[in-house]
Amino acid sequence: MPAELAHLDVAAFTGEKVGPMVRGFFPRREQEAVLTVLSQSVVFLSPANIQTVLREERWLSTTWDLANRYLGSFGAELLAVDAPCILGLGEETKCYVSIEYLRGGDSRFADVIVHEAAHVFHNCKRRTIGLPETRRREWPLELAYAKRETFAHACEAYSRILELGRTPTERRCLLDELATGSMPPDDRVDPADYVEILRDALSARNGWKRILARCAPSRFTRTTRRSDQPSASAESAPGSSAGGPSSASRNLAAPVPAPAASCSMRSELLAEDILAPTVPTVAPASAAAASRR
Ligand SMILES: [Zn+2]
Repeated sequence: MPAELAHLDVAAFTGEKVGPMVRGFFPRREQEAVLTVLSQSVVFLSPANIQTVLREERWLSTTWDLANRYLGSFGAELLAVDAPCILGLGEETKCYVSIEYLRGGDSRFADVIVHEAAHVFHNCKRRTIGLPETRRREWPLELAYAKRETFAHACEAYSRILELGRTPTERRCLLDELATGSMPPDDRVDPADYVEILRDALSARNGWKRILARCAPSRFTRTTRRSDQPSASAESAPGSSAGGPSSASRNLAAPVPAPAASCSMRSELLAEDILAPTVPTVAPASAAAASRR
């Protein structure tokens, strides 16, 4: 067992990471169900589970990526010189994460666990994560297909800004730092739009809802703002404990390292790039169905 994982309660760690986001997006009555699913979603690739993970994976391309990611995290030779560099890989509600995540990285605004958890909200139907489903409400969150990647990157960076900055001023400074640094390594994300969404989120009472509204399909934008009000505990106001700078390290069995850097290639290449329709304006239902293979 790698030292990084020896004393880590992965479920508690994951819950702390995604908790502010879940409380920001979902009403109080739904938060526990979502948190339960997401807390169990992360699998760190280690000697203890790699054989099982690879044997049980249905898709050979995913198996290949996971094997390479595992080998790379231990400094071993990869299976090919051009093996992709991925830090995390999401599949339905599972998120496979390299232990390199726990060793820190070169961007303090990256957090692949939050990123992949954000994708769960459009990859799985509500019933999959224990939420009641209606004919008109199938998905946990309604997102524009073309904005899915922007949404995940914005959630990731916003989470880190809330963790790192104690005050509104500190958080604005962090955003300025982010804006002058490297942008998400993904051509599906418009850098200007991404930064503007984050700036908008930092000015809002519930920044998560602002991110969601900015990434919603146009036909949902108005109803999202009106009918999906934040719950009482959802607010991650600047300086509040919900998304405070130490929130990720509280109540954990092990010290919490900084999250690792974003990678140049992410798992959604499997779930979205390969399997999704080529026309990026499909209805959310069909898009998500495609991503579920
Ligand atoms: Zn992504």
